[in-house]
Amino acid sequence: ALLMKQIQKTWGQNQVFKDIDLRVAPGEVVSVIGPSGSGKTTLIRSINGLETLDSGEIVLFGESFIQAGDNRHSRLRKQGIRRIGMVFQGFNLFPHYTILQNVMLAQRYHQQPEQESARRAQALWLLDKVGLLAHMNKYPHQLSGGQQQRVAIARALALSPDIMLFDEPTSALDPERVGEVLKVISDLAREGMTMVIVTHEMDFALAISDRVVLMDKGTIQADTTPENIRHGEATPELQRIRQFMGVNS
Ligand code: ATP
Repeated sequence: ALLMKQIQKTWGQNQVFKDIDLRVAPGEVVSVIGPSGSGKTTLIRSINGLETLDSGEIVLFGESFIQAGDNRHSRLRKQGIRRIGMVFQGFNLFPHYTILQNVMLAQRYHQQPEQESARRAQALWLLDKVGLLAHMNKYPHQLSGGQQQRVAIARALALSPDIMLFDEPTSALDPERVGEVLKVISDLAREGMTMVIVTHEMDFALAISDRVVLMDKGTIQADTTPENIRHGEATPELQRIRQFMGVNS
């Protein structure tokens, strides 16, 4: 499991989040929603070691992974070990490499030629999984935003992560391209991938998640299931999240 224990983050005087306790069990899909500026992006970046914590601890499979002032995750990453994959709002592909090269560059041991054919096979399998095998020799600018984001997902999967993090994966896309990316994420959910997804897509969050977490002003205001959101007896917590999601029970 992924476990956040009392984590806290400030930017200067600005407390971005505090007292966050969150547990994500293996195979679980947790969506994080909340108003703009509530700290969702900073939280998910912290899980990936891209921001330093002011206090608290992140534990992965029983091992302390990230603590304030210590970031084992980033040390492991420097050794090419990545147990957490992340997909960003912008796709951040390498523009001068083909789609296939983008995926292969993300793989472990990509500098070792003796593994080349196995790595190529894995990359082709991943591109097939996201429906882009036919485009493998194209460059990012030749693809739509939705296709580039699917490549970014394949690339994040290339290191066989235990957990995938998504930071508003569809918010930079044209509306007609959103569905194809959400479908790839849904497929991963069905296969049992553990995921934390920051999203503004409320219907998607309700459809895909085991739990939905509402953040506001840097704290968790609600942490509940889609079933509860739709049908649970009205509590202040549920009313709050229903109101935010525009769900009438
Ligand atoms: P959105 O939905 O708009 O992406 P969010 O919930 O993801 O918002 P964050 O991006 O995590 O919110 O931002 C939370 C707060 O932290 C905001 O007040 C923001 O201005 C501040 N913040 C984020 N990144 C930095 C940074 N690098 N330096 C200083 N302040 C930052």
